[in-house]
Amino acid sequence: MAMKLAGRLALVTGGGSGIGRAVCVRLARDGASVAVADLSADAAAATVGLLPAELPGQRHAALAVDVGDKASVQAMLARLQEQAGEPPSVSVSAAGIIRDQMLLRMDEEAFDQVIRVNLKGTFLVTQAVAQSLVSARAASGSIINIGSIVGKVGNMGQCNYSASKAGVEGLTKSTAKELARFGIRCNAVLPGFIETPMTAGIPPKVMEKLIAAVPMRRMGTPEEVADVCAFLASDDSRYITGVSLEVTGGLFL
Ligand code: NAP
Repeated sequence: MAMKLAGRLALVTGGGSGIGRAVCVRLARDGASVAVADLSADAAAATVGLLPAELPGQRHAALAVDVGDKASVQAMLARLQEQAGEPPSVSVSAAGIIRDQMLLRMDEEAFDQVIRVNLKGTFLVTQAVAQSLVSARAASGSIINIGSIVGKVGNMGQCNYSASKAGVEGLTKSTAKELARFGIRCNAVLPGFIETPMTAGIPPKVMEKLIAAVPMRRMGTPEEVADVCAFLASDDSRYITGVSLEVTGGLFL
């Protein structure tokens, strides 16, 4: 495989599990040095243990962060820049949570928690990375935010989650318009149903129904989402900004 990200530093939030972990592995295979950031320092360190480092100077790091907390995001980025001597030119926001409940029964806390991590967290990371790239007068950057197809079409029991993911798309499109003049691209990836710890709790009967709605008749893998992130991170997508790429097996066509 061509080392399309050789010499690049990539930050991946939610890198300790699921899609984020698969993104870390793929970007490292493409030659990037990867900063794995997660709520759990142990989970981030476990991901670092999986990453290849075949190129001279390719170094990975594990960082603890709460993406919903501005001070935590800023401290994490400052530490990364101090260690690496440069800001990350690739940033993937994959940290996310669900707190599912029907609208009629959802409490305010479940709504606030999901907005705090999924939407505000993506805003805080996007803003901090963009500020660091602009201050460093970096030649280019690629910011990738993981949304969800349910942000477009809604989902029963997920009014908080789908609102947060619709917000991620709007944030990404506005950011793309503002940052293009600095050479920074910003795109969203919208997964459908992907096999990760987040979907592991779905009861088998419900899962059968969900899969029946997918034209490709199966769930996606984290690696299939990671491949699309690698494309958006690389110069292969150099004239693409402000888009949302759906990785859904054709769901909700
Ligand atoms: P996952 O396996 O649960 O991974 C999410 C990671 O984010 C976990 O390591 C989690 O840590 C971490 N995290 C949670 N809150 C955080 C915070 N405040 N700060 C930093 N890290 C935090 O889920 P996934 O399925 O890979 O999801 C990754 C992204 O894809 C999410 O944004 C999700 O919404 C999106 N997505 C997933 C699917 C799917 O079908 N799986 C579909 C569409 C979109 P803890 O485990 O400690 O909470």
